[in-house]
Amino acid sequence: MYPLRGKTVVYLLLMKLFDYHIHNEISFDSEAKLTEHCESACQKGLSEIALTNHYELDMVLLGTAEAPDLAREEALLAEAKEQYQGKLTLLRGIEVGQPTYDQEAFRKLIAQRDYDVVLGSQHNGKGNIDFYFMDCNSFSDGYLKELWDAYLEDLLSIAETAEVDVLTHILYPVRYVEKSRQHCFPVTREAFEPIFRALIRRGIALEINTAAVRKGVLATPDPCLDLLTFYRELGGEYLTLGSDAHFSPDVGAHVKEAAALAEQAGFRYLTRFRQRNKIMEAI
Ligand SMILES: [Zn+2]
Ligand SMILES: [Zn+2]
Repeated sequence: MYPLRGKTVVYLLLMKLFDYHIHNEISFDSEAKLTEHCESACQKGLSEIALTNHYELDMVLLGTAEAPDLAREEALLAEAKEQYQGKLTLLRGIEVGQPTYDQEAFRKLIAQRDYDVVLGSQHNGKGNIDFYFMDCNSFSDGYLKELWDAYLEDLLSIAETAEVDVLTHILYPVRYVEKSRQHCFPVTREAFEPIFRALIRRGIALEINTAAVRKGVLATPDPCLDLLTFYRELGGEYLTLGSDAHFSPDVGAHVKEAAALAEQAGFRYLTRFRQRNKIMEAI
């Protein structure tokens, strides 16, 4: 009894967390320096981070957003990898927005580099701007419900068809409506069941994103405990953690709570990636 308990405690103390969702100056919406991110990660005791800058695929193809400078990103990664060798593992990731709006372009983009982890995100509907820039609170209930249904369809499309490793921040639009309007974006098991089933069938991991809880717009990490529990009940196994940091102090923020939430939902493992292969690690 006692040795077993002691062993468990030691194991938990040795567990090192990671952050698989980080932006730096290569993203259009960040000015952060990668080496400062690394410093912040080390201070927080993380063992591994993935740099996952935005590539808003539809916007880039339309010419309304610039493609990130991937060559420069590669140089920054190489520099930081050398500087933090033995202290912190850095992974080459990417956050592709709206990957299903042009699957061929998406496949070409991903084939360009040897990624460790590819995040699939939905930030806007077809022809719409990012929820981040929308004045959602000025819309009617009916229109918000339309946006929500279209959003869920887009998430389902990623889960069913896109060659991504991780589906990110599934409650993204909910961040951008006031609490009093959140009933227009109903977060229910029924809404997410087909998405979870597709993720499980295709072996895509679900991200626990901590940005909304950090910003105080959601009470818990995204997804919430009930959805995480439901994902596990359906057979979901693969979970990653991501702060979605755009500033260095936010690297690793709330990832401990996210891991605890996963445990509370009944998960015993988190998933790490190397060259797009999964590695399961006990929580
Ligand atoms: Zn995102
Ligand atoms: Zn992000």
